[in-house]
Amino acid sequence: MSFDAAALRAEFPLLASATMPLHYLDSAATSQIHHAALDAMVRHETTARANVMRGTYRLAEAATEAYETARTQAARFLNAAAPDEIVFTAGATAALNLVAYAFGGTLRPGDEVVISLAEHHSNFVPWQMLRDRAGICLKFLPLTAEGRIDSAALPALVTSRCRLIAVTHCSNVTGAVSDVAAIVAAARAVGARVLLDGAQQVQHGPADVQALGIDFYAFSGHKCYGPNGIGVLWGRADALDCLPPFQGGGGMVGEVTPEATSFAMPPYRFEAGTPPIAQAVGLGAALDWMVTLPWPAIHVHEQALLQRLLAGLATRPQVRVLGPADLTARQPIVAFNLAGLHPHDVCQVLDRHGVALRGGHHCAQPLMRHFGVDGTNRASIAPYNTTSDIDALLAGLDDAIEVLA
Ligand code: PMP
Repeated sequence: MSFDAAALRAEFPLLASATMPLHYLDSAATSQIHHAALDAMVRHETTARANVMRGTYRLAEAATEAYETARTQAARFLNAAAPDEIVFTAGATAALNLVAYAFGGTLRPGDEVVISLAEHHSNFVPWQMLRDRAGICLKFLPLTAEGRIDSAALPALVTSRCRLIAVTHCSNVTGAVSDVAAIVAAARAVGARVLLDGAQQVQHGPADVQALGIDFYAFSGHKCYGPNGIGVLWGRADALDCLPPFQGGGGMVGEVTPEATSFAMPPYRFEAGTPPIAQAVGLGAALDWMVTLPWPAIHVHEQALLQRLLAGLATRPQVRVLGPADLTARQPIVAFNLAGLHPHDVCQVLDRHGVALRGGHHCAQPLMRHFGVDGTNRASIAPYNTTSDIDALLAGLDDAIEVLA
């Protein structure tokens, strides 16, 4: 099946209406929003805006129905067993903190949580905070020289005290996709649960949480063509059932008396207060649109752009590319440095070429330390990118080398 990236680009209002050249290569930070998500939010706010789960009038019922439809759409996108396994959060960070707090509340001093040195700070700092609060032992999976999580270290690191392995599905710096099967096998061998941070993976297609065999999955709406301020925590029903609440407030209770409160069943137990309703509706529309896309053809397209970029970088001796050379199990995210040039300076020169590129530590300082750098440039490719974006980046890099060197 062929795939027309230029036609897809026209479905993104910001890209379609840009009056200046825009080579958007920062989708790993935030993807552009698809018109289906925007349209759904406008429709919701203008036809069904009311609070959810509370009112008994028709408008409130319509709002609740729209919100619950979004839950069903998210469940379908992840191939969850039931919509009740979907908890709406403010984003991936909020979802990861929810698990660190709630699952963390079930741990005892000496219990072990295993993360990796490739994690985004969102899946790093909450576990450190838990360690310091609850006296658990936090262990770190080491990385190969290329920055992949080293699965060979699993048997020695994952002991009978391990209660959870929480790692990224795909690195936001190198694009490396984790060896989930090895991680799940190591966890299951000791009865531990597995959490995947899917923030970077879902931009490149729907996930199948049942096939992955995991317990928790977290992602953000703004990285998969939906709105900001919304994200998903998926939890296997038996895993969510075991968790105490995270935040208290309206909507997450059974009965409240001065003496005690009983809590609602998941997912409502974890959704205190008025949720981001229009954002959930927008995310649901984005996910519904995503499941209709020809992903095998899109992957071919993305990999072709990735190879074009890597080949171009390889011909420039000033460039050092970080991350796996092997393109298998690798999403189209490329971190690189230009010898002697600060990533931010490079970004500024590229901006003059209409190239939106990221520079910095990408909220992954332990990984930066692993590579022996303070920061990098990062190009991230989404389905709406074309060869012209890659060529503009390479031309801009030549300019940066000339101007800044
Ligand atoms: N995990 C990974 C791998 C990420 O790339 C990001 C965002 N850069 C996050 C978690 C956090 O996502 P958010 O800021 O949307 O909560």
